[in-house]
Amino acid sequence: MTRLRFDNAFVRELPGDPESGPRLRQVEGALWSAVVPTPVAAPEVLAWSRDMAGRLGLGEADIEAPAFAEVFGGNALWPGMQPFASNYGGHQFGHWAGQLGDGRAISLGEAIGSDGARWELQLKGAGMTPYSRSADGRAVLRSSIREFLCSEAMHHLGIPTTRALCLVGTGEPVLRDMFYDGHPREEPGAIVCRAAPSFLRFGHFELPHARGDVSLLRQLADFCIRRDFPELAGSGDATYAEWFRQVCTRTATMVAHWMRVGFVHGVMNTDNMSILGLTIDYGPYGWIDDYDPDWTPNTTDAHGRRYRFGWQPKIAGWNLVRLAHALSPLFADAAPLQAGLDAYAVEYDAAERRNVAGKLGLRECREEDLALMTDLQALLHDAEVDMTLFFRGLADVDVEAPGLAPLADAFYDDAQRADAAPRFEAWLGRLAVRVREDGMDPRARRAGMHAANPKYVLRNYLAQEAIDQAEQGDLSGVHALQDVMARPCEEQPGREAYARKRPDWARDRAGASMLSCSS
Ligand code: AMP
Ligand code: MG
Repeated sequence: MTRLRFDNAFVRELPGDPESGPRLRQVEGALWSAVVPTPVAAPEVLAWSRDMAGRLGLGEADIEAPAFAEVFGGNALWPGMQPFASNYGGHQFGHWAGQLGDGRAISLGEAIGSDGARWELQLKGAGMTPYSRSADGRAVLRSSIREFLCSEAMHHLGIPTTRALCLVGTGEPVLRDMFYDGHPREEPGAIVCRAAPSFLRFGHFELPHARGDVSLLRQLADFCIRRDFPELAGSGDATYAEWFRQVCTRTATMVAHWMRVGFVHGVMNTDNMSILGLTIDYGPYGWIDDYDPDWTPNTTDAHGRRYRFGWQPKIAGWNLVRLAHALSPLFADAAPLQAGLDAYAVEYDAAERRNVAGKLGLRECREEDLALMTDLQALLHDAEVDMTLFFRGLADVDVEAPGLAPLADAFYDDAQRADAAPRFEAWLGRLAVRVREDGMDPRARRAGMHAANPKYVLRNYLAQEAIDQAEQGDLSGVHALQDVMARPCEEQPGREAYARKRPDWARDRAGASMLSCSS
């Protein structure tokens, strides 16, 4: 029996669909539909997060009890759980897509953690819901491993994100056409239990707005403020204005973190944007190896590359404009919405300056330091240099005698390195002058740079290697990555293999550099 306690505010306080069960349908006037997970053949816990379990007050014995795999595989419910799928819409690749909803996510309930915090627990891949549209409600092992590992890795990098409690194998195959090219194959199925204080997305607000249901929109906004932004008590224009402003600034903070570490979300549709500014929906995401602002891992987006690395700040802004539009019926005039959007720009700018200062090891970022960073990024791009290795190595450059030696390993191509060396040396000279003038204590500077520039990130090929092993029944690679990525900024002697640049074989391999939305 579980020790989890539930307080299911979402289903208690918001209107639900009168019909329950998974029959596909348009759901109007309601924010959720009751639906239970579809049982699976042989649920087995493949991995779990000790940190997340601990926050819920769960320990190893709880996870190992057979009942745990049954519940988190979708075969059983604990007392207090009230499973549902939520109803949202969204703009996909720039176009309004109408009702989407939780097509394969089923929330079990809102658990109250050991510290009193609220953690909605949600199974991803638990079977059909009214929102599954033409799909099967399931998830494959490879994409579940990717979500499980990356959401926890992001948390340990200090980046706002949904969390993952566990990864459960279903013992059932799932049919997937990985590259939508008419070659479906059976893959092992899995379910991730993710956890967040709220899974509300921009798209939850867009759908009632698109349907002209202002009363439902207002109920949802009031609920979101009450439950997810409790410090903003009251209601009326001032509260809505401050709420929207905070959504904007949280989004700015999140995206600036992505840009700091080289994370590319891959599908920044408005249904994948969290109202709390959490990174959500880990699909065809990727990590920058050689610095390229035009790179996207998502083959489904290969043509326009809307969600390329360098466009993420602007796309998040575009998404906030969609949200502002959806919320406009709640405001007497547009000024507070414009003020929120302006706050996005201001906060992003401030966060970018923090990134520049942190990554270059400066006390503060001045105007000319922005140019120093832009110039470096152009060099990194032109000479095909690994983003993570370069910035990590920067802390080892002696500012009294700057040289490229500590950074040699970051280059993918020797000839390009030789060619670009004079330009890099000139740039390092500029940095050294600035650092000496800045006068920061060298030890504090090094520590600050290490905190801003992780050594270990979940490179696409590392995740793919662990997936290949897991598909053969060996989970050790997943567990090893979990462990390494829990301390991404620390030196971890003996684990150098996890901090290497992308090997040649991984350059153009499916999974390691190219991913589709098929998951
Ligand atoms: P995504 O691109 O993963 O954010 O998904 C967009 C929409 O498609 C969401 O409404 C998902 O719930 C839905 N969806 C994605 N994959 C599946 C699936 N296998 N079964 C049902 N719905 C899905
Ligand atoms: Mg999604």
